[in-house]
Amino acid sequence: MASPLWQAVLGEIEVTIPRASFATWFKNTTLLKSDPNEVVIGVPNVFTKQQLEEKYQSLLQKTLDKNGVKPQKITFTIHEETQLQPAAAGQQHATAESKPNLNTERQTDWSVKPKPKLHKSNLNSKYTFDNFVVGAGNELAYAAAQAIVKNPGDKYNPLFLYGGVGLGKTHLIQAIGNEIFRKNPDVWIEYISSDQFSKEFISSVLQKKTFPERYRNADVLIVDDMQFIAGKEKTEEEFFHTFNALHQANKQIIISSDKPPGSIPTLEERLRNRFEWGMTADIQSPDFETRMAIIQSKARQHQISVSAEVTEYLATHIQSNIRELEGALTKVLAHCEMTTQPVSLNIVEQVLGSNSVKKQRLTDKQVVDKTAKYFNVTTHEILSSRREKTISQPRQIAMYLMRNELHLSFPVIAKAVGRKDHTTAIHSVDKIDKEITRNSSMRQTVQEIKERLYA
Ligand code: ADP
Ligand code: MG
Repeated sequence: MASPLWQAVLGEIEVTIPRASFATWFKNTTLLKSDPNEVVIGVPNVFTKQQLEEKYQSLLQKTLDKNGVKPQKITFTIHEETQLQPAAAGQQHATAESKPNLNTERQTDWSVKPKPKLHKSNLNSKYTFDNFVVGAGNELAYAAAQAIVKNPGDKYNPLFLYGGVGLGKTHLIQAIGNEIFRKNPDVWIEYISSDQFSKEFISSVLQKKTFPERYRNADVLIVDDMQFIAGKEKTEEEFFHTFNALHQANKQIIISSDKPPGSIPTLEERLRNRFEWGMTADIQSPDFETRMAIIQSKARQHQISVSAEVTEYLATHIQSNIRELEGALTKVLAHCEMTTQPVSLNIVEQVLGSNSVKKQRLTDKQVVDKTAKYFNVTTHEILSSRREKTISQPRQIAMYLMRNELHLSFPVIAKAVGRKDHTTAIHSVDKIDKEITRNSSMRQTVQEIKERLYA
C-alpha cells in the first residue's frame, strides 16, 4: 500500500512537470523511509536515481516541505520491488532468471584480440550527444545511452531502443558509438543496419565465403532497424550466434527497432528472449517544449536566428516527428537564404503552404467539439455528468488531447469539460495514456482524432 504522504507528494509533482517526465521518473517510485533526518525513496533503476538526484532534488525537497516533512537529506536507492513494476515509458528487463550466468563483475577487456586501430565503421560523426536535444519522450533512452558510454558491455546489455520513425533512434545509437570512440579510439565499433547485415550474410553464403568475422570481433556492435531481420530465418540464426559470442565476451550490443522485441512479428523466440535480457527503452514523440528546443538548437547550428513566434508556429504545426520538423526548418532557411530575407512567419507560411498547416490555433472548445463529433455524441453530452462509457470515454479522450496537444493545466482541462475537480482530469489523462500503451485500437482512435483536429 502506497504511503499517503508519498501519494500527496506525487500528486503535486504530477501537475507541476511535463506528463512524460512524471511517467518516466516518478511513477514507479516508493517511499521507503521518512523521518526528520532522512527520506529514502525507492527507485526502479540507476537512470531514475541519477535523474532524480540531478534534476528533481529541489522539487522533491519543496514538495515534501509543503506536506510537512523537512528531512535533512533525501536519498535514493534502487529497490527490488519497484523494479518489477513496468514503467510507462520504458522498462528494464533484467531479472535473475532470464539472465545467463555471466560474471557481471568482470570488466570488459578491450584488448583481448588484435584489431585495427581507429575502427568505427560506418558511424556518421554528425550524430553526437551534443546536438541531441533531451526532452520528455527521449529522456530514458538518453539516460540509458549515457550509462552505456560510461560502462560499455556492463549492465545494460543489450540496449534495445525502440520508437517510431524520425524520432532519433539512429542519432542516439550512433552518438553512443561516436562518444565511446572519442573516449577510447582503440575500441572497435561496428555499426550496421539489420538489412545490410542480412545482405552481407546472403552474399557471403552465395560466394561461399565466411561471413565477416568483424561483427563477432567487435567491442561494440550497433544494429539499426532490427525489425527488418524478422522472418529472415538464416540471418536471424547468424545474428543469434553473433549475439551470443559478443554477449558472452561482455561486449556491448546496441539495437534499434520500430517496435519492442515482443511486438516484432515472426521474430524467432530465442532472439526475442535475448533482446529482452538487458535494457529496453522507448523513444516517444517529442512534446511541444521539446519541439521548440529542437528548432532552436537546429537554427543555432545553422547560425540563423529564428524568432520565438516562428519557433512556436513550427512546433505547433509539425508534430509527427523530428525528421519532418528538421525538414521544414531546412526548407524555410534555404528559402530565406536564397531570397536574402530574414525568417518571418509570413515566409514560413508561404514556404510550408498554408494548406498543409492550420491557420488558427486549436482551442479547447474545438477539441471537445471534434472529439464529440468523432464519436457521434454531442458536445452537450460531453459536458454533462452522464457516466455511460459511450460518453465518458470520449470525454476522457478530449481531456487527454487537451493535455497533450494544447498543454493545458489540469484545472483548465477540467473546466473545459464542465468539471470542478482537477483530479478528474488527472485520472482521465492517465487512464487514456495507459490504454494507449496497452491497446493498439485506442492508439489508432486517438491518432485519428488528432489528425481531424488539425485537418
Ligand atoms: P529514426 O532513426 O528514429 O528514424 P533519426 O535518428 O534518423 O530517427 O532522426 C531523424 C532526424 O532528426 C535526424 O536528422 C536527427 O539528427 C534528428 N533528431 C532526432 N532526434 C533529435 C533530438 N532529440 N535532437 C536533435 N535532433 C534530433
Ligand atoms: Mg533510423
